[in-house]
Amino acid sequence: MSLPPLVDPAAELTNDEVRRYSRHLIIPDVGMDGQKRLKNAKVLVIGAGGLGSPALLYLAAAGVGTLGIAEFDEVDESNLQRQVIHGQSDVGKPKALSAKESINEVNPLVNVVVHDERLDNDNVLGVFEQYDLIVDGTDNFATRYMVNDAAYFLKKPYVWGSIYRFDGQASVFWPTLEGAEAPCYRCLYPEPPPPGMVPSCAEGGVLGVLCASIGSIQVNEAIKLLTGIGDPLVGRLMIYDALEMEYRKLKVRKDPHCALCGDNPTVTDLIDYETFCGAISEAAADAAVDATISVSTLEQWLKERDNGDRDFVLVDVREPNEYEINKIPGSVLIPKGEFLNGNALGQLPSDKQVVLHCKSGVRSAEALAVVKGAGYADAVHVGGGVVAWVNQIDPSQPSY
Ligand code: ZN
Repeated sequence: MSLPPLVDPAAELTNDEVRRYSRHLIIPDVGMDGQKRLKNAKVLVIGAGGLGSPALLYLAAAGVGTLGIAEFDEVDESNLQRQVIHGQSDVGKPKALSAKESINEVNPLVNVVVHDERLDNDNVLGVFEQYDLIVDGTDNFATRYMVNDAAYFLKKPYVWGSIYRFDGQASVFWPTLEGAEAPCYRCLYPEPPPPGMVPSCAEGGVLGVLCASIGSIQVNEAIKLLTGIGDPLVGRLMIYDALEMEYRKLKVRKDPHCALCGDNPTVTDLIDYETFCGAISEAAADAAVDATISVSTLEQWLKERDNGDRDFVLVDVREPNEYEINKIPGSVLIPKGEFLNGNALGQLPSDKQVVLHCKSGVRSAEALAVVKGAGYADAVHVGGGVVAWVNQIDPSQPSY
């Protein structure tokens, strides 16, 4: 299915622009007309992280006239393994500013607009309105559903990508496209996954180069939509397996029962996305009430345990490869999955208090619900997990 171009062409290209974009101009499908459309295009990239880095760099190099960057985070050393728009000297700098500087270096002709704020229900529509197309590089479900809904309400195409370890997915959601039965993100994923079931890249890891594979697919689709060439990924899901080196395409149909774009929508305005996606499950939240200790309390308890004044077992519920990176001394490793399948309970002493921790406190809260349910009434978990331990108690250990 070919589509008309999303953007009208700019009046002209300068001699400088003709020289710069000559390798585009000599492709018949792009040509002068396509390059003028790119010049006139306004694209918003959400996040200057793993996907946003290659997306912004290639959109800028391609000559997209106006590039928006929605990003509120700062550059951290752990970003540099994949977020190639930032460099060592950018650590600690706002990512949006660092990305803008890199773009200016790649292509000073691009007008960069920085939205150095967290997108939320109050500002998302106002920001999206300024653009022709949205490229999504976010890593969390709450933002994704918000972006999908906001793009739908404003009838903007939404170029989506997601990455995890060695697997990536990409698609174009544009349910308001006339003459096509095009789905939205909710048609594909009507419900967010249960909290705690799908780890984020911060919790589960991502192969750095996967960001380039998926981010470049997103740019490819954006350029096709803006210039009206090729067959865009509307109604199709691209699935990439970096280990098998395999691309698969699945058809995604518009769901007539979709809460947003279906025949009888129930989502007619922006909703509370944090609640919809839930940071942790209800069971975990309940278990953590009055059963969360701080890392400084844990440090005190560990001293008392050494002195024989207190007895408990400290269980790290992360994965073995995370345990290799850093650990709280005196902890034993039993991954969260062992709690969910019930195997962990047999490994816990029945006469000791159980103290659980993970990386940040989400997985340990899930495990805490299981442990409390098995009768360990005095079990607790450590708020902030090993991240807080390294930050506040033992900065000599690496964090990730
Ligand atoms: Zn839908």
